[in-house]
Amino acid sequence: MRSQHDAWVRPPELDPEEAADALLRDLRSSRGGLSGREAGRRLVQYGPNELRRRGKRRWPGELVRQFTHPLALLLWLAAALLLMVGSQVVAGAVVLIIVLNAAFAFVQELQAERAVEALAMYLPQRATVVRDGAHREVDAVELVPGDIVLIEEGDRIAADVRLLGGAIEVDMSALTGESVPVVRSATMQDVRVPVLRAHDLAFSGTNCTGGEARGVVFATGMHTELGRIAALSERVEQEPSPLERQVRRVAWLIAAVSVLLALAFIPVAMFGAHLSLTNAVLFAAGLLAGMVPEGLLPVITLALAVAVRALASRGALVKRLSAVETLGSTDVICTDKTGTLTENRMRPAAAWSAGGRAEFDWASSGASPALRAVARIAAACNNAELPDGESEAAGDPTEIALLLAATRLGADAGIAAREAERCRQFHFDPELKLMTTIDGHDGDVLSVHTKGAPESVLPRCTRILGEDGEPVPLDDAWRERVTAQVDTFASEGLRVLALAERMLPAGQPPQRRDDAERELCFAGLIALIDPPREGVAEAVARCRTAGIRIIVITGDHPLTAAAVARRVGITGPDPTVVTAEDFERLSEAELGKLIRREPEIIFARASPEAKLHIAEALRGDGHVVAMTGDGVNDAPALHSADIGVAMGKSGTDVAREAATMILTDDNFTSIVSAVQAGRRIYDNVRKFISYIFSHATPEIVAFLVFALSGGAIPLPLTILQLLAFDVGSETLPALAISREPAEPGLMDRPPRPRGEGVIRGSMLVRTWLFLGLLVSVLQMVGFFYVLVRSGWHPGAQVGPGQPLHHAYQQATTMTFLGMVFGQIGTAFAVRTQHASLRSIGVFSNRHLLAGIAAELALVGIFVYAPPFQALLGTAALPPGYLVLLLPYPFIVWGADELRRYLVRLGTRRAQLAT
Ligand code: ADP
Ligand code: MG
Repeated sequence: MRSQHDAWVRPPELDPEEAADALLRDLRSSRGGLSGREAGRRLVQYGPNELRRRGKRRWPGELVRQFTHPLALLLWLAAALLLMVGSQVVAGAVVLIIVLNAAFAFVQELQAERAVEALAMYLPQRATVVRDGAHREVDAVELVPGDIVLIEEGDRIAADVRLLGGAIEVDMSALTGESVPVVRSATMQDVRVPVLRAHDLAFSGTNCTGGEARGVVFATGMHTELGRIAALSERVEQEPSPLERQVRRVAWLIAAVSVLLALAFIPVAMFGAHLSLTNAVLFAAGLLAGMVPEGLLPVITLALAVAVRALASRGALVKRLSAVETLGSTDVICTDKTGTLTENRMRPAAAWSAGGRAEFDWASSGASPALRAVARIAAACNNAELPDGESEAAGDPTEIALLLAATRLGADAGIAAREAERCRQFHFDPELKLMTTIDGHDGDVLSVHTKGAPESVLPRCTRILGEDGEPVPLDDAWRERVTAQVDTFASEGLRVLALAERMLPAGQPPQRRDDAERELCFAGLIALIDPPREGVAEAVARCRTAGIRIIVITGDHPLTAAAVARRVGITGPDPTVVTAEDFERLSEAELGKLIRREPEIIFARASPEAKLHIAEALRGDGHVVAMTGDGVNDAPALHSADIGVAMGKSGTDVAREAATMILTDDNFTSIVSAVQAGRRIYDNVRKFISYIFSHATPEIVAFLVFALSGGAIPLPLTILQLLAFDVGSETLPALAISREPAEPGLMDRPPRPRGEGVIRGSMLVRTWLFLGLLVSVLQMVGFFYVLVRSGWHPGAQVGPGQPLHHAYQQATTMTFLGMVFGQIGTAFAVRTQHASLRSIGVFSNRHLLAGIAAELALVGIFVYAPPFQALLGTAALPPGYLVLLLPYPFIVWGADELRRYLVRLGTRRAQLAT
């Protein structure tokens, strides 16, 4: 890698502020761009346009961190204590645990990080360049100095660029921290200002929030201003998720309890069981080491990362690990209509002009003059491309469909003619819901071509084209006819666009948008059909059972929105539709009240700002909100929602940057799948926390029995056996449980309340007092069974050299195996929280089966391999004893199965009673 970097040449030192032509010459480029071959050569020469991460080799530091985090320090303390009392073997075992855990956590975190880094591959940044004289979309990493790039509203600028034409507004906050957009334009000249303030430069990593421009790339990769900053600053630490924080707190709580227990154990052991101080400390330190839940956090991190990776392959890129958890508690989804609920593959359905309605479903011949005007406007006021046939179409789907309509009505949809005639363009503005171009025929006559939402276009019209193509005044009667027609189209679920035009006297075209978009002559309507996506209706139904509310917020017509929402099952026959005017009149408090009162609500003709208000109102009520958006203006709403969802295909770079989740397929169903995955992961975290916690009780009970009997009962489990249990049985099955498939009924229960912690009281009761105690009883039964059968009575000597010593070793081995077998039962029990195991399949988690097999193999070595027998004080057990252990898993699991059954019965009764 290193040598490759060294092979790349530094681009020549340039002055990006010299005259444009001189700069182009220095870059050996021209306004017509580079050839594809030359760009390829430069890519090899200068290297890809990407930021190299410094400090890739952080891993020694990471590894050290694994050895020094607070829980590890606690274990070190235990090891030190053990060394002090002269127990090297146990101290060594504790150190081994620390090392194993550190290695394990390290590998897991590395894997987690890889999973997140790999996300970048799913969604490469793109850039539009001029190569070989034509516009091309390329991956931004392929940009080279000298490339001519096009920058549009919503683009993230991918390299440092000197503007050559046009003007843009740029949000420079990534570089300067200043979030007020600034204007950058090719025609603004500066004298000697700092580069970042130069008016004709735009920088990599900043966002274009308006306008369009073209420019020449003068720096890429690490040579950009952003690269310079990146080289200076190290990577930002990732903030721990609320889940991780909670778990860390609990881990600490347990650690504190273990310390207290261990300390309390010392006097009890000394005065109750007459142990020497040395031995008492030995037990205390061992108990401490056994109870510290050091494996918990890395497992959680990995579980989240695995979820993130799985989501990515299903169309939802989640940018932060913690978002997975937020997704799980999402209870309101605010969604767009176009592209999310529908396919965003629009086809012209019908057109309307003063001459009447015309359908597109057969080749219409002989369009009226008014319809021909409609077609002309649709073709001119358009940025889509339709080379031959629909398959190669490029651009905004609405505009593609309009272009298609225009060709069917006989207009020329060629790009060449359109570009030659265009003098000026006012972009589609989602607030105004209008787009306008000013085009020149034959050089002298100019005309304004406007298209947009009928409610926006109609008020700006004073006349209407009659059937014969002659304008007549647009009186109230005509207005009513047009509005009625719009409503008819809209209630069929069609997207309706109005088209209008105005001739201008030759000369200067109007500079201001308001001056262009007035006194228009209404030409007609085009209605587009956009079928609902497949699977959306099912996803909506899933949301319904899962208690997740869906609110449609769209820029489209109220009736169109209502028709589509009804068709996919989001609302019934008459939802409350809030239009832009209604919205204006609502105060913040009223908006909140309305949302609370009306279960079925649609916001139509909504502005991006409305989205922000709606998100805030919902969050104010304690909801967890997912909000979709795609435009530049949606960024604030995406930020303020709990989960901002941007569209990977149709969305702008700006929206993608503001979002927490990006849908690579723009599909509503992916949001619902992500919520489901979030719920599943949260459940699984709970499951393996249950599993890891549940082994604390048997460990403590073993020691308590010894201490409380005042030594009359020998220690049922040696310290080293306890530590062996810790290493041998916890981690692999716990990891496997974090991969549990979804529990049935996952999407049939209400969302988790916002403030609910990951560890609930009922969970602790279940793990510590139910499962844990059950395993404790079983292990003690095994222990006493072996002892008593060998002729033991309370108080009998079992130390080395005594006749009962071998029986005692077998008895502790029984305790050890009793714990292991009991925990296997626990593993199966915690696989479900509510449902029966049968409903998810006893063998459906292969990871768990493998984990248990590995655990049994390890335990077999501990018990039967002579070196381990000598170390741990275990003894081989005759088959008769082993048979006794076989039912243990079934008893533990079966008891919990029964408990869950009774709980389910109880809730069903309660439901029936209400
Ligand atoms: P949504 O995506 O929620 O349907 P948009 O904000 O994309 O809403 O569009 C809102 C309205 O603006 C549309 O119903 C249409 O009337 C109009 N519109 C959409 N795209 C264009 C465009 N390219 N040019 C002119 N008007 C448009
Ligand atoms: Mg849209």
